[in-house]
Amino acid sequence: MNVNEILAKLHAKLPAENTGVVASYIPELAHVGSEKFGVHAVTVDQREYSFGDAQEGFSIQSIAKVLSLTMAYQRENQELWKRVDVEPSGTPFNSLIQLESDGGIPRNPMNNSGALVVCDVLLNYLADPKKDLLAFVHSLSGDQSIGFNEKVAASERETSSRNRALIEFMRSFGNIHNDTERLLDFYCSLCSIEMSCQQLAQTFLFLANEGQSPFTGEQIVSKKMTKRLNAIMQLCGLYDEAGEFAFRVGLPGKSGVGGGIVALRPRDYCVAVWSPPLNPKGNSNFGMTFLEGFTSEVGDSIF
Ligand code: GLU
Repeated sequence: MNVNEILAKLHAKLPAENTGVVASYIPELAHVGSEKFGVHAVTVDQREYSFGDAQEGFSIQSIAKVLSLTMAYQRENQELWKRVDVEPSGTPFNSLIQLESDGGIPRNPMNNSGALVVCDVLLNYLADPKKDLLAFVHSLSGDQSIGFNEKVAASERETSSRNRALIEFMRSFGNIHNDTERLLDFYCSLCSIEMSCQQLAQTFLFLANEGQSPFTGEQIVSKKMTKRLNAIMQLCGLYDEAGEFAFRVGLPGKSGVGGGIVALRPRDYCVAVWSPPLNPKGNSNFGMTFLEGFTSEVGDSIF
């Protein structure tokens, strides 16, 4: 069976397994159809496989945290780890609970507190943060059409009490330096980036290619840094379900509450899947099932 046939076969399970709830705590996300499904895989030697709504844009939400982390790591190197740790949290993505005992240092850069610290770091470096962020995304994907979904960003800004609380709590420990509204504005734009599965898989392919863009040959981050970014995704990319994802799928990955998951096998391929209904942990329910089937059928996890 070839890869396209495997994608179609795995998708056939969707009607029976499309359980879960589309995110609505950011009201604009609730408008997306629960039946949507797309998948796109691309190999480091640029073979591409697509199925379903793979060309339709969706809100990548927390998946974008890997991109902001990459930008901050490029600039801060090891210094970054003084402000954010690299341990799995075992708590939900927007949890405040560990920050008190951890002295305002987020457990990892993949949960909201850690991503807010990473955005705070970037505000100190970037002359025009939103423009510079998009320029970075365009350079990775080779696609200038990728942008923010302004409706989603505005919707999140209006419902940001919890993220505002995280910022102020971390500020009380000296781990936030910039103005709260400026930081929230940047963070909400980051999470509102809209991409299709195809654009997502292409954007993340450098992490499957030892830090080098297979499209331009540019070294985005060193091989050593790539190892660390993939390790963080493996251990923290699916919040308090990172263990379950490693157990079932066996790849470094990152989810978002827009229903996307991107995962990659180093030196081999990157795959992005989109199915909006989320499980109770905030991860795409069918997305996880699909990727579990994908690595089982194609036979290529990292384990
Ligand atoms: N923008 C979302 C939030 O801050 C990101 C959460 C996610 O995708 O997991 O709540």
